[in-house]
Amino acid sequence: MIQVRSLRKSFGDNEVVRGVDLDVDRSKVKCIIGPSGSGKSTVLRCLNLLEQPTSGSITVEGEAILAKGVNVDRVRQKMGMVFQRFNLFPHLSVAENIMLAPTMVGGLSKGDARDRAHELLTRVGLAEKLDAAPGSLSGGQQQRVAIARALAMRPHVMLFDEPTSALDPEMVSEVLDVMAGLVAEGMTMVVVTHEMGFAREVADEVIFFDRGRIIEAAQPDQLFDSPREERTRTFLSKVL
Ligand code: ADP
Ligand code: MG
Repeated sequence: MIQVRSLRKSFGDNEVVRGVDLDVDRSKVKCIIGPSGSGKSTVLRCLNLLEQPTSGSITVEGEAILAKGVNVDRVRQKMGMVFQRFNLFPHLSVAENIMLAPTMVGGLSKGDARDRAHELLTRVGLAEKLDAAPGSLSGGQQQRVAIARALAMRPHVMLFDEPTSALDPEMVSEVLDVMAGLVAEGMTMVVVTHEMGFAREVADEVIFFDRGRIIEAAQPDQLFDSPREERTRTFLSKVL
């Protein structure tokens, strides 16, 4: 579904992604772990064309998305993204937040979009919050709404960038549970996370990322229990 080859990204003369190859198959889950500042978010943002890579290639469902003339909006619609900060529009209701893209760019009527919002909120366990104001929700609830919003355009892939890092500890599990539900439904996902337990549970492959490169990628038990690389071991000894 996604193929990344020799991806590089520099900001000025600071090269933060230094040659990344990545394959994500349909219905598979890749978790990316690694120290802060190592370029994990930049990789995700390149996938979604929120950053323009300096070089390399990215293919999504067979389409070379860095090619000239590619419809960026259409590429982004295939990929739902959830950030650390939920960024819901505070002046819109929960339903309106979710309905925004489907009505503005998806061509859905308001009625259909509201039905879809209801269906998605049910999926994240918040059906009763349809007309609530985002500000009246807890952080965990807001992040679940953000997930529903990201699902509203029926993406083929979901990208998560530390979706629980900004949450109070007691709200982490409700968000991880929703994500695990998506995994169970067969969603293709790339998840940057510090939640090692989650990565071990749901990932098909865990990638340890450091200083702009993939240091090691393996099945979770292999990576967590017997990492091959010294740098992976050192990192894990600090976070586990
Ligand atoms: P991570 O997600 O692993 O914490 P990031 O991808 O956010 O790492 O950042 C990697 C490096 O790139 C950091 O040194 C960061 O300061 C730098 N960086 C990220 N975005 C920009 C930007 N828009 N302009 C300049 N430097 C950036
Ligand atoms: Mg980051």
